[in-house]
Amino acid sequence: FRKETWRNTYKFYAKEIGEASSQRMDLELSLRRAIDNKELVLHYQPVIDLGSHEIIGAEALVRWNHPEFGLLMPDKFIPIADETGFIIEIGKWVLYEACKQAKAWQEIGHESIFIAVNISAIELDQSQLINHVAGVLHTTELNPNRLELEITESVLMQDAEASIRTLHELKQMGVRIAVDDFGTGYSSLSYLRRFPIDIIKIDRSFAKDMGSDSDNSAIVTAIIALAKSLDLTVEAGGVETQAQLDFLHKAGCHHAQGYLFSHPVTADKLFALIEQRKTGTV
Ligand code: C2E
Ligand code: MG
Ligand code: MG
Repeated sequence: FRKETWRNTYKFYAKEIGEASSQRMDLELSLRRAIDNKELVLHYQPVIDLGSHEIIGAEALVRWNHPEFGLLMPDKFIPIADETGFIIEIGKWVLYEACKQAKAWQEIGHESIFIAVNISAIELDQSQLINHVAGVLHTTELNPNRLELEITESVLMQDAEASIRTLHELKQMGVRIAVDDFGTGYSSLSYLRRFPIDIIKIDRSFAKDMGSDSDNSAIVTAIIALAKSLDLTVEAGGVETQAQLDFLHKAGCHHAQGYLFSHPVTADKLFALIEQRKTGTV
């Protein structure tokens, strides 16, 4: 009986692993052609100013319109892109598309809209990153201080000294730097102060229970207070309820992002949202 159970379990896992790795191979092969085939798309999630309640910017989030598997979310292919090095090409495409889009929104009447772009560890590590950012800003004619680069806390810490040097070069160009997923790594805000950063994005895991008498409420309050005393802009992610928003408002958080305002949407939809919020119809 036991042997049989074990054998079935084994068969089950072998099949699962087999399927997973062959799907991974498929993805790896098709990722090569994704850019050329124009299968990558950017969705945009608005960033709300908690003072004016207006949309002041958007984060570009990549999706892959796979011919076979449908619309794939980044967690399905960014890790593969990272391991295979395709992330460099994808990152270049994302940066260019996002800056071009931001410039287009600005030209049709929303001059101050900024765009946030996620940068992975491999990209940050590339000496080409600086040239590439400069090239894209030049080509798209986007004002550098309307571009925000998001780098996760854990990536910044991987090689702190190198990160600090790269960030200084980006800052000199006028680009703003945001620390993404803040609170999930092991660094303190005072240590992060050694990095030339402008914004911290509190990880969305802290949004859970926020507003009730919870540890998360206390942590978020402390992060906001410390960030403010260090003259940093604070942005909260993962805001899904009015109660969370009320709490952030009271705590003095500057910006927020989350499903309460909008899921990530297409460029056209984001534009419609900006207009709606401006005229106060939402
Ligand atoms: P991230 O940069 O932390 O982005 C926030 C993620 O949280 C997005 O998932 C977004 O859709 C989701 N989110 C936003 N508001 C809420 C909310 O209220 N509730 C919940 N449950 N989730 C919310 P997405 O689009 O699946 O992206 C996942 C991650 O993939 C991103 O995390 C980022 O690390 C990475 N990523 C996305 N686009 C790019 C890219 O162009 N380049 C690189 N290197 N990484 C990217
Ligand atoms: Mg991000
Ligand atoms: Mg995150």
